Amino acid sequence: MKAKKEAGMKLIITIDGPAGSGKSTVSRILAKRFGYLYLDTGAMYRAVALQAAREGRSLADRRALRRLCMGLDLQFRSENGENRLFLSGEDISEAIRSPEMDRLSSTLSAYKEVRKIMTKIQRRLGSEGGVVAEGRDMGTIVFPEAEFKFFLTADLEVRAQRRYLERTIRGESVCLENVKKDLIERDQQDTNRVLSPLRPAEDAVTIDSTYLNADEVVDIMLKMIREG
Ligand code: C5P
Repeated sequence: MKAKKEAGMKLIITIDGPAGSGKSTVSRILAKRFGYLYLDTGAMYRAVALQAAREGRSLADRRALRRLCMGLDLQFRSENGENRLFLSGEDISEAIRSPEMDRLSSTLSAYKEVRKIMTKIQRRLGSEGGVVAEGRDMGTIVFPEAEFKFFLTADLEVRAQRRYLERTIRGESVCLENVKKDLIERDQQDTNRVLSPLRPAEDAVTIDSTYLNADEVVDIMLKMIREG
């Protein structure tokens, strides 16, 4: 790893963790610092969910879901410093953030037909290195060879507060208790599924962000990467 860094080669950095742990903000900042691609894999599962909902797909029809995943035309683009996701040319960055998509993406991401294709696409996007990959199984399954692996956690109360604030800022009318309930459900679903469950890779560094802001978390990561 050191040799790779000294040779100026591009690294793979993975950041996994539960919803609301601050992964997205931290990943975005880190990717910007290094001039790397920010690979938001949660957004990819959300895009699958959005398309399935739009097509009115039955979740029982796994072959149709597989076809849907194979046919997805997804593109990450940076616009005005923001990471946007396009589906067949349409900017779906906002549409994928609804509570309905929270739930549906978590349900669909447990299916092997969906995971297999998403994992393949994610590996292709990160194949050249120079990527900060964020999700649930980046360090364990998708990029086990990553040079730096982080697992971000935070107390449930704090995670719920963060999500609540995000939604309120977006102008949504939400109730903190419901946000918390949804987080608990999603955590359970993501942690207890058979395929690629949410868990830290054995060689991941766990950072508890309960009492840290995003810049403080990034500082810890940068220090480790520099020293690594
Ligand atoms: O990270 P985000 O909350 O946007 O992810 C939405 C859902 O996608 C998660 O609840 C999880 O079920 C799924 N996901 C996954 N594997 C990833 C990223 C997200 O299963 N690598």
